Amino acid sequence: MEENLSIDEQIVPFREKLSVLQYVKGKPEPWGVKVYFLCGKSGLAYDFLIYQGATTELSDQSNPESRIQNPNHKLFFDNFFTTYNVLEVLSGKNIQAAGTARVCRFANPPLKADKEMSKKGRGSHDEVRSRDGKVVLVKWFDNRSVVLASNFVGVGEEDEIESWLEYRRDQELQGTQPKQVMDLLQFKMAVAEALVRVGKTQSLKKRGRPSSSNKPSLCMSPTPQPSEEPPKRRAAMERRPIEEVQADMLDHMPNYDTKKEATRCKLPGCSGKTHVYCDKCKVHFCFVSQRNCFKYAHRK
Ligand SMILES: [Zn+2]
Ligand SMILES: [Zn+2]
Repeated sequence: MEENLSIDEQIVPFREKLSVLQYVKGKPEPWGVKVYFLCGKSGLAYDFLIYQGATTELSDQSNPESRIQNPNHKLFFDNFFTTYNVLEVLSGKNIQAAGTARVCRFANPPLKADKEMSKKGRGSHDEVRSRDGKVVLVKWFDNRSVVLASNFVGVGEEDEIESWLEYRRDQELQGTQPKQVMDLLQFKMAVAEALVRVGKTQSLKKRGRPSSSNKPSLCMSPTPQPSEEPPKRRAAMERRPIEEVQADMLDHMPNYDTKKEATRCKLPGCSGKTHVYCDKCKVHFCFVSQRNCFKYAHRK
């Protein structure tokens, strides 16, 4: 049995007459037989138990605490199972457990109120420990609060988030083509650019020379613009728009480029080509009577 395990329920759809038939609201197939599964992180099922209401047989063998023999497994479950007693018993068996929790099932833990935490914003958190130190409750505020109870993990040390690793893991999970995944430099540039631009108006001062369109050219042969990058580098810069910046609803002005060839529109699903780009995002979007990708791209 692998280290990380979880217990959860599953409905096996069934509509005929059956004494153990259950109706579970919110499931895609609400009528059926409710089965509890003990599964590994890999997706393998190690054991299951058919729910039969009050008559559910809980033999010694079917108890997770006896089913999981070796110590130091990590067991995760949802708030249906999470109680102080469950965590304490599992702790006694050296099974590390964690689950979402309904606070009302615990004896008035002195966790901060939602109101207080919402003022601090997303990511604020609070932690309380039982007197014996065995059970810890963590309240985490995202858009709303969620409480986690555990016998082995709490808030822990706050650390710099290793966001690069998370980004790569997420791309892998999403099945993004390796070519489309930013390398570390591109990733850092994107983060930096988002931090610099998001929620801010564009600086009016532009570095470098003003573009040739604003300035009458006196030279016979055009001099290269200092801001012009070699083609290869430019291709790398012509990347996906940074979502956070794109949706900040601030100072996104259309601009017309001076390129000979139109550039592919970056609105997902659009295959149009355009000379219009956003001055803040530095990304091309169609802006023609048939389609206003510029507007759609900047909507939240
Ligand atoms: Zn923009
Ligand atoms: Zn378009």
